[in-house]
This record gives sequence, C-alpha cells and structure tokens, in this order.
Amino acid sequence: MVISRRQFLAAAGAALAPPARKPNIIFIVADDLGYGELGCQGNPEIDTPHIDSIARNGVRFTQGYVTAPVCCPSRAGFMTGRYQTRFGHEFNLIGRENLKPDAGLPLDEVTLGDCLKRAGYATGLIGKWHLGGSSRYHPLRRGFDEFYGFLHEGHFYIPPPYRGLITRLRVNEPPYDDANPILRGEKPVEEREYLTDAFTREAVAFIDRHKERPFFLYLAYNAVHSPMQAKVSDVRRFQDSIHDEQRRVFAGMLAPMDAGVGAVLDRLRKYNLDRDTLVLFISDNGGPTAELTSSNKPLRGGKGQLWEGGIRVPFLAQWPGTIPAGQVIEHPVCAMDVFPTAAAAAGAELPGKPLDGVNLLPLATGRSAKLPRESLYWRYGMNVALRKGEWKIVRQREPGREDPPFCLFNLGEDAGETKDLAAAKPDLLRSLQAELRALNAQMMKPLWGPSQVWG
Ligand code: CA
Repeated sequence: MVISRRQFLAAAGAALAPPARKPNIIFIVADDLGYGELGCQGNPEIDTPHIDSIARNGVRFTQGYVTAPVCCPSRAGFMTGRYQTRFGHEFNLIGRENLKPDAGLPLDEVTLGDCLKRAGYATGLIGKWHLGGSSRYHPLRRGFDEFYGFLHEGHFYIPPPYRGLITRLRVNEPPYDDANPILRGEKPVEEREYLTDAFTREAVAFIDRHKERPFFLYLAYNAVHSPMQAKVSDVRRFQDSIHDEQRRVFAGMLAPMDAGVGAVLDRLRKYNLDRDTLVLFISDNGGPTAELTSSNKPLRGGKGQLWEGGIRVPFLAQWPGTIPAGQVIEHPVCAMDVFPTAAAAAGAELPGKPLDGVNLLPLATGRSAKLPRESLYWRYGMNVALRKGEWKIVRQREPGREDPPFCLFNLGEDAGETKDLAAAKPDLLRSLQAELRALNAQMMKPLWGPSQVWG
C-alpha cells in the first residue's frame, strides 16, 4: 500500500502524541529584560511572583539563549526556529526603516504562527511584531488570525501628554516613533490604557474567545524596553525599597508585566486549562544596563553584544502534568527551540526548511538528559561566537577595539567570562574557530544594515 507523506506524518504524529486535546501554547516574550531581573533569577529588589511561578510549576533553564543580542533578528530566529543569518535577517530595523517595502521577515520563511495555524490552532499576536512594518509583512499575513499591537521596535506606554506617568523621555523629544500606531488587525486605534495593561487585557480576552479550541497566543510585551515610562502608582510601590529614581521607574515597568503574566495564568486556571497549556517565557535579548538600569548579573556585557549578558536570558516553561514541576535545567537551550517544541506539542507538521532549533520536550520531561545539538552559533555583524559544551569562543568589538582577537571561556567555571583561556588552549581555540567558520559559510549576507560581516 502506498501512503502519502501527509498520511504518514499524521500516523506518526498520532503514535507519538496521543493527547485527547491538542495543548494550547502561550509564548510570552519580554523585551530587553536582563538575565538577572526576575525574582527566580536572583533579583532581591523587585518581586516577580507570577513570572517566577512558571519556574516553580515547571522548569527554569539557567542557560537559555537567544540567537541575536537585539530585538528584530532575535525575533526572526525564534519565529522561524532558524538562525536568522541563514536568510539575511541579521540587523535591527529602527523607526521608519521598518516601513521600507523590502524590510521584514523574508516571505518564504514559515513562522510559528503559520505552522500552528495549519495544525488547526487559533493564532494571535498581542504586542510587538518588529518583523516588518509594511503591509505584506503584517502579522495577519504571517500566520496570525488576530493582531493587537504595533509593528516597529518600540512604543510609548501612554500617548502624549503622558498623564499619570513618570516618564524619562527628554523634554522636546518628538513623539516616540510617530509612524507606528497601535493596531487592531490593520486598523489604527487609540489606546488610552497603560500599554502593558492593555496587552494583558487583550491577552485575557483572546483566551476568553478561544478557550474551546486549541489556541496559540504569542504575547510579546514591549516592557521593559525604552522609553522608560511607568504609572505613578507603580513607581510609588518602590518608594521605600529602591532609592535610585531611574531604577524605581524600571521597577514600575516590570511590575505590571508580572501582574499581566499572573492574569493570563489565572485565566487558564479559571477555565481549567492549565494542564492543557504549554506556557513559555523568555526575553528577546539581554538588558541594556545603562539605559534601563537593567541587570544581567552575573553575566558580562549586555544588549547588542555577544558576551553572555547580551544573549543569555530568562527562559522558563510550564506544562503541568507533562513537564515535572520545580526543575532547574542547566543544559544550554535556545529561543529558536520554541518553534519545534511548540510544533511537537501540537503534533504539527514542520516546515520544509531545516530548523536549527530542537524540541525541548524530551529534556524538559526528563526523557533525555541532553539535546541532539552540540553547538550554538551567533553572528551579529563583525561579532561572532560559538558555544560547544562548556566552551565558548567569542569575538566582540568594543570601543577602541575594532579588530579584537577571539576569547575562549569555560562557561561551566566562568559564566561571567572573566578568564580568557585563548592563549592557554590554542588547539581547542583553533578547532572551535574551524567549526564556527564552517557554520558561518552557510549564512547569507545581511538584507539591510551594515554590509560588512565577519568571515
Ligand atoms: Ca529587545
């Protein structure tokens, strides 16, 4: 008997994953949230009980990475499950660059929204897109049935004149990113609620609307990205505990996101859906320490860099009844793994292009002690890095150092990248460089931004 590929995959999927109901998938992404900023990540200053509860009810990956140290390429990586440098999505789009007709996630790439929509899911993006601001890249044409949010890299939290806010916008600064309205679908709307709270409101309403069928909710808060704007009431809560005024505003931006995650989790419990829902939480890149007072402790560097502080992020997941609770897993994982993980949970067919991400469920459920992937690779312009096992090589430009040598670190002993072992281990350095070069040869030139890249 000859069976079609589709029938074969359907049969294989049924044999592997027999749940009565396909699980919902909620993927929550924070923006520019540093590695050390959550309570469960060691922050003693700002409570994040609701986000922390995901770790308590599931797993906290201590070595979770993103594929780029800035927003737009990082999102291209996890939204496709592939190194974004494979398709030229290497650099950020800022302001009106987002509107260029050819700037956006290449149209022949398959998004996680596409994948899950084809598997019968109701799909919604609430929050920040940042994968193209012109019509053909719009989320409604990239696998999402519903969209509420904005298309560019950031957004003010309340439109001017910022009543009831403590804001760190400079006087006379033009309205932040003025060609970037809040959209419902494709229609601009006037949003008067503090944006983080508005996204929570929309997320909860999405769950209300779709609770009867499998849904995929991609909740991409722009918190805690600039501009630094928080409600006066939220900043006041930290009046006594945080002395630095800038830091208090930051705390006032993080707190409503934590409350929002709490509201989403509450909704799942209300409908008795928590055991039927895989929830993942990450940040899209490390914190920009100067601007946001954000902490990547104990890691080196921050946003825009391939030091650990730029690319290692909070990385949490829960799926009660399937992923055992209270786990801390140190094996390196990456945001591009979310795609195949969600697809496996959903029994969805993977796109034809090879993925760089791998399914995390065998690791998270304890069926396997490691992932079927030995190395992680990064390129961001002239900066590159490769991690293999505990070892990492990294070439990171710094001010006054345009052509830096490769550093070699043992992250198992030295997560803070303080002790460069390149000179002490030349053979290991060379073999990791060779592997990096081989991977790099598979990558494309950037579609926009600087044309000069490493290699
Ligand atoms: Ca970001």
